[in-house]
Amino acid sequence: MTTVHEPTAPTTAADLSVWPASTAEPPHGDLAVGGVPLAEIADRFGTPVYVLDEAEVRDRCRTYLDAFPDAEVLYAAKAFLCRAMAHWVDEEGLGLDVCSAGELELAVTTGFPAERIVLHGNAKSPRDLEAALRLGVGRIVIDSPAEIARLAAAVGPDGHQKVMVRVVPGISAGGHDKIRTGTEDQKFGLSISDGYAQHAITRILDQPQLELTGLHCHLGSQITSVKPYLVAVRRLVGLMSRLYEQHGLVLPELDLGGGHGIAYRPGEEALDLTALARKVRAELADACATAGLPVPRLIIEPGRAIAGPAGIAVYRVLAVKHTGEHVFVAVDGGMSDNPRPALYGVRYAPRLIGRHSTAEHARVTVVGRHCEAGDVLAADAELPADTRPGDLLAVPVAGAYHLSMASGYNLVGRPPVVAVRDGLARLLVRRESLEDIRSRDVGL
Ligand SMILES: *Cc1c(COP(=O)(O)O)cnc(C)c1O
Repeated sequence: MTTVHEPTAPTTAADLSVWPASTAEPPHGDLAVGGVPLAEIADRFGTPVYVLDEAEVRDRCRTYLDAFPDAEVLYAAKAFLCRAMAHWVDEEGLGLDVCSAGELELAVTTGFPAERIVLHGNAKSPRDLEAALRLGVGRIVIDSPAEIARLAAAVGPDGHQKVMVRVVPGISAGGHDKIRTGTEDQKFGLSISDGYAQHAITRILDQPQLELTGLHCHLGSQITSVKPYLVAVRRLVGLMSRLYEQHGLVLPELDLGGGHGIAYRPGEEALDLTALARKVRAELADACATAGLPVPRLIIEPGRAIAGPAGIAVYRVLAVKHTGEHVFVAVDGGMSDNPRPALYGVRYAPRLIGRHSTAEHARVTVVGRHCEAGDVLAADAELPADTRPGDLLAVPVAGAYHLSMASGYNLVGRPPVVAVRDGLARLLVRRESLEDIRSRDVGL
């Protein structure tokens, strides 16, 4: 069979570098995270199921605060949000980025302090702005000229709202075209080079109830090099310097967004946070000294790097099919719980769990159960050649942009989320049931 490789190391010696730090290998081929065997979670909660390691989330928050002691760190809720997640991030002392009234209301009704929340969005709805003002979010990031008058009117002549302006620094960075947001040819932000950003800022300064606290940029996602952030610092400080000359304006904050890259498979590169912190701090100090400006307080907004590596997706194999030279291993989830491979061609390294296999490794394509040929979860995955229906597969680095992008495709229902900590598993979000689906369907 052409798909069988030379005998590789048995699964017990697998590389766990992209798994949560708590991952352990109990006997009989299982894998435990947060002290709980994943096969036990599959038995108890069914499959597919998403597992979130609470300690890993909290450790990642602390790593950020340690690396950036003078900065404000905001968790980008769109990577993954549920009430427990909001609670952990709050307890660890981070702020929160939201992009909708839904994310905002969920966080605030869980007890997240509204003043530590920032509202983003290239097209904020009236409901988003109403919720933001009613709940008292800390800052609103202006992303289009029309928003300025609309926001000022909603705040009212006696009101007050802190705002930032999202600018486009003209930098191409990020893991894929669809997640590059620092360039001129995409929908986010106001361009520095064509003068839109300066123009919008002048209009904000004309609105006394809006207090401009700083510039914001977000270059994209899955960036593994420090360099684009340093270029962004230079360009944003350049704009700050022009604003000082034109308006005598000194902005106290500078937000560099998120986009910090992580490894999805062993051996892949991740952004070096310590180097990022050190070099950004130095670049900012130097650029401000040259411009004769005080150094603004830095804000960063990691999403993926906090939630991604803390999550694991567990699926059950439903079918194994040999077609030509390909072996397809089909599981009980797919693009409805993880659209990322279909959207950006991302690669994952799933692992057989729940039993020990001594079989050689074969190269297989792990596919989902949905009615699209592009419903591939992992192309070129290495799995034991005897992988068969009934087996369990675990996919690491599944905590970000999976469930937050989940859809209702084929009405399979979205999977539950289970938290693990200190040997205990608890349900955070239950599985979407047929009853949930029927109850929204109110006409006939
Ligand atoms: C998506 C987003 C983030 C987080 O991006 P990650 O790649 O998950 O770190 C931060 N800030 C803004 C404005 C975003 O849109």
